[in-house]
Amino acid sequence: MALLLACASACSERRAPVPPPVQPQVTAPAVRVEAPAVPSSWPATAVTAASGPVDVAVTPADIADLQGRDLSIPLPGVWAANLTDTFGDGRTKGAHEALDIPAPMRTPVLAVEDGVVAKLFTSQRGGLTVYQFDPASRYAYYYAHLDGYAPGLVEGQSLRRCQLVGYVGLTGNSPAGAPHLHLAIFKLEPKPRWWRGAPVNPYNVLRGSRPCSAGG
Ligand SMILES: [Zn+2]
Repeated sequence: MALLLACASACSERRAPVPPPVQPQVTAPAVRVEAPAVPSSWPATAVTAASGPVDVAVTPADIADLQGRDLSIPLPGVWAANLTDTFGDGRTKGAHEALDIPAPMRTPVLAVEDGVVAKLFTSQRGGLTVYQFDPASRYAYYYAHLDGYAPGLVEGQSLRRCQLVGYVGLTGNSPAGAPHLHLAIFKLEPKPRWWRGAPVNPYNVLRGSRPCSAGG
């Protein structure tokens, strides 16, 4: 299993970015809804986790590494005891490779740790999303269904733990009336690319964590 981030359904979206969207001039295949065009220079297997295994696997050492970072729960006021493990929930298009955290609209979404904004991406399923790499580019944190980004947020920008990245919303395939943050964590390949990685269950990583104390 190696996939990508995105949601599946309680959120009903799933697999957020499939192919990197980048080239507007390439026409998106009619069948592949959320995936905009696939740049011809990219190997087909690199486009989506569904098209082939990623070149990396999650190990117990990764979980221990992530747990040791004591990541911050990205929504103010949400404690580990409030989290429900939704990773692996059956969804219409496969298992859910993320953690859904219900929250009121426009709740601030805060970085789980230091890092950099690797990609700001909009997909049909994930809606408005942010991909953050950790400082070593070993893992990516993916925040989806956002209602908006933090003012001035740009790709390549450094982030500090608990810095505002955006706001909880209903974009993408988030069910109406059920705003939530879809949070995914995935292990990047040796050559880090924001759209590829092996999913880690965020619940296992955050169950000993605390929330950021403030909203930004
Ligand atoms: Zn989700």
